[in-house]
Amino acid sequence: MTSVDLNGIGMTSQRTRERLIQRLVDQGISDMVVLDVIRTTPRHLFLDEAMAHRAYEDVALPIGFQQTLSQPYIVARMTELLLGAGPRRRVLEIGTGSGYQTAILAQLVEEVYSVERIKPLQQKARQRMRRLRLRNVHMNHADGGMGWPERGPFDGILAAAAPEHIPEDLLQQLAPGGRLVIPVGGASQHLQVVDRTHEGYETRIIEEVNFVPLRSGTVR
Ligand code: SAH
Repeated sequence: MTSVDLNGIGMTSQRTRERLIQRLVDQGISDMVVLDVIRTTPRHLFLDEAMAHRAYEDVALPIGFQQTLSQPYIVARMTELLLGAGPRRRVLEIGTGSGYQTAILAQLVEEVYSVERIKPLQQKARQRMRRLRLRNVHMNHADGGMGWPERGPFDGILAAAAPEHIPEDLLQQLAPGGRLVIPVGGASQHLQVVDRTHEGYETRIIEEVNFVPLRSGTVR
């Protein structure tokens, strides 16, 4: 676990950030540890300059390649769900994107393994991890629908792109006691939580969501 030092990053006022946190609380986010990490992580660093002024609005924002930086509410919700089953040591993230969710996770778990299929997005995200001195993040340019078998099993898996059905590989790379948080569906998607028990898998449907689709193959 690493923490981010924010001193000197004065682009947005403390008030703007507090407003975002209050909004997350109003929407039902209650894990203080998660809220604290969101409060102190500079979301504007995960956006291109033209978009940075909107960083502390509770909306998804474009990051190029038809992808988006997830809405803070959904990042908070998924992180809260992932950690809800107890501390997680090794976490796999599918869809690094800007690296914002990655940075949040890196401050809350021991090791983050993050897979992204679009190389230029991954390269930018890697620079951001370096800038924030988050050294417990491991990145892979690959199709995350297959997980990251060489580094599994994981006691947490979080997907930021939606498959039509949960990939079997992800279920297999979940350790017993592990938890998967994933949006599933096509035109209509639902956030699902899958717990691997010693007997099998238990699935819960949380709420309706709207993610970019999980795509196969990679982009150089
Ligand atoms: N949490 C990220 C979300 C980015 S959007 C953020 O806040 O920035 C989802 C990302 O998933 C995109 O970058 C997209 O390229 C990636 N993605 C989609 N399908 C994928 C796959 N099969 N493997 C790895 N990454 C994938």
